[in-house]
Amino acid sequence: MGKEELELVQDAFATNWIAPLGPHVNGFEEELQEYNEVAHAAALSSGTAALHLGLLLLDTQPGDYVLCQSFTFCGSANAIHYTGAEAIFIDSESRTWNMDPQALEDAILTIRKDPHKYPGRIRAIMPVHLYGMPAAMDEIMALSKKHDIPVLEDAAESLGATYRGQKTGTIGDLGAYSFNGNKIITTSGGGALVAQRGEWIERARFLATQARDPAPHYQHSEIGYNYRLSNVLAAIGRGQLRVLEDRIAQRRAVFDQYVQWFSDWGLDWTAQEEGAAVKSNRWLSAFVLHDGGEREALRLAMAEENIECRPLWKPMHMQPIFSSQPYFGGKQCEELFERGLCFPSGSNLTTEDLERIRQGIASFIDKTNKKA
Ligand SMILES: *Cc1c(COP(=O)(O)O)cnc(C)c1O
Repeated sequence: MGKEELELVQDAFATNWIAPLGPHVNGFEEELQEYNEVAHAAALSSGTAALHLGLLLLDTQPGDYVLCQSFTFCGSANAIHYTGAEAIFIDSESRTWNMDPQALEDAILTIRKDPHKYPGRIRAIMPVHLYGMPAAMDEIMALSKKHDIPVLEDAAESLGATYRGQKTGTIGDLGAYSFNGNKIITTSGGGALVAQRGEWIERARFLATQARDPAPHYQHSEIGYNYRLSNVLAAIGRGQLRVLEDRIAQRRAVFDQYVQWFSDWGLDWTAQEEGAAVKSNRWLSAFVLHDGGEREALRLAMAEENIECRPLWKPMHMQPIFSSQPYFGGKQCEELFERGLCFPSGSNLTTEDLERIRQGIASFIDKTNKKA
């Protein structure tokens, strides 16, 4: 937390706005709009709720398809299945580790060519800006236009990242952010849905408040959800937005530190590549090692030193619950899962923490070199 969050929360108490609405919710939405340069934002209870509502706004219904990046957190795919639609998973490309436009087009053409095998309608494309790295949005938006399929960006991990100067989450038709406890800024739990189209966000707010019709009594003509953000949590969010740029600078500095060490040691471990006019928030410092054995040996060696490193996201098409869903692409995201490792990446890592991490990795490399 920064310096102002507690004061803002105290204001929520002092004014007795302890509810899923109030001045901090409105303020947080306005500040999110301003920061992201997007016309409309709805503050919600989670990123998953934002994705779910985004899909409902695109009229996603049971039996429909949503083309979703396989290399992601389960929240992306779960939201699709809440609507009764089916996720069709797409491989990643090696540069950004995000949705591979070629595999995406292959999926669209294959599905549309064979309505017998694929009777559903494709309702949306869901790229994910994983670990804060913008996906190849030029190519994805071109395919969206060409094939007339809207784009819902899962920007849960990429708040503040930019693509050709535009904030991720505002490039497609709709974008979802998360303020869960592990994200670059947090409200402990929370999310937001953004769009340039006001009617969509207005309807998102309606659906998020149990679809209550305008009437003096409680009147309902459709199924709604309890998805609004608490005024207390929105107060935290407003304070967090004020430190977001600092957090991005801190995360990027941590990432640069790893790159520097690996280059000093002559290691060719690779990371997501920031293309021209692209800026990642480097939410997590993730690298791909030479092989799965080396990755696991390093992970265990670091765990011995009480330093937690984690494998990258396990692709959705490899998850027991989604293993029967169609998948388009090759082995890129499987390789990333097998060989990739997330290193400690917190915005609050101290110089001493970093030195301990450096020593942990250095001693692993030393031992490996001696064995070789
Ligand atoms: C965190 C996350 C979500 C879900 O957000 P919640 O706020 O935890 O519901 C969705 N997609 C990705 C890629 C995420 O990292």
